[in-house]
Amino acid sequence: MQDEIFNNKVSDGFEIPADVLDEIQQNIQNIIESFDIPDANKTDVIKKINFMYKQTKHISLTDALTGLYNRRHFESSFEREFSRAKRYNSKLSFAIIDIDFFKKVNDTYGHSCGDYILKEAAYLISNNFRITDLYFRYGGEEFAVILPETSKENAFIPMERLRKAFEESIFKFNGEKISVTISVGVSELSEDISNPCELFDAADKLLYKAKENGRNQIRIN
Ligand code: GH3
Ligand code: MG
Ligand code: MG
Repeated sequence: MQDEIFNNKVSDGFEIPADVLDEIQQNIQNIIESFDIPDANKTDVIKKINFMYKQTKHISLTDALTGLYNRRHFESSFEREFSRAKRYNSKLSFAIIDIDFFKKVNDTYGHSCGDYILKEAAYLISNNFRITDLYFRYGGEEFAVILPETSKENAFIPMERLRKAFEESIFKFNGEKISVTISVGVSELSEDISNPCELFDAADKLLYKAKENGRNQIRIN
C-alpha cells in the first residue's frame, strides 16, 4: 500500500512525468498561499509541504534496500544522457553489472544475507565512480552505470577496479564469511547505435558473454 502511495504510477504502466510533478508542486504552493492562515505561518506551511513533496519524490526515485537510484530514475537519466551525447557528439559508455551466482547466496545463507550483500555491493559501487558517473540498482542483483564523456577503454578502468574490489572483499554475515564476484558488460555509443535500447542491449549481450566465459570478468565491445 505504501508503495502505491509513493509510486507516481496512476494506473497500470502510466507514470506522471517529472515536469508534471513539478507543476503539481507549484500548484500546491499556490493553494497554500491562498489559505486563510496568518502570514507568519505561511512560510512554515510551504516549507513543510515542500519538504514532504521532496521526500516523496526522493522515495519514488530511489531503491529502499540499497538507497541507490532505482530503475525509474535510470530510464529518464539514460534517455537524457543518450540524447546529450548524440547531440554533442560526445563519448558515452554504459555498463551492466550482475552479481555472479547470487541465487546460491540466498539459497545457502538466506534471503536476509542476500539483502545484506546487496547493501554492501551498493556501498562498493557508490565509492567507485566519478561524481559525473551515474549508477543505479536496475533490478534484483543488477546495477547499471552511465559514464558520460567516457570511452569504453576508460570505462574499463573503474569497472576493473570494482571487479577487483568485489573479488577481494569478504562479507561477514552472522559469523559466515562470504565472497561474491561480478560480471560486467560495457558498451560504448557509436554511429550505428541510434537509440538507448541498442546501447543497453549491446551491454546486455556482453554481460551474457562474460557469464558464458566463466564470470568474474568484464566484456567490452
Ligand atoms: P548468474 O551468475 O547467472 O547471474 O546467476 P544468479 O544466481 O546471480 O542469477 P539468477 O538470475 O538465477 O538469480 C538472481 C537471484 O537474485 C535470484 C533472486 O532471489 C536474487 N535476488 C533478486 N533481488 C533480490 C533482493 O532484493 N534480495 C535478495 N536477497 N535476493 C534477491
Ligand atoms: Mg541477473
Ligand atoms: Mg546474477
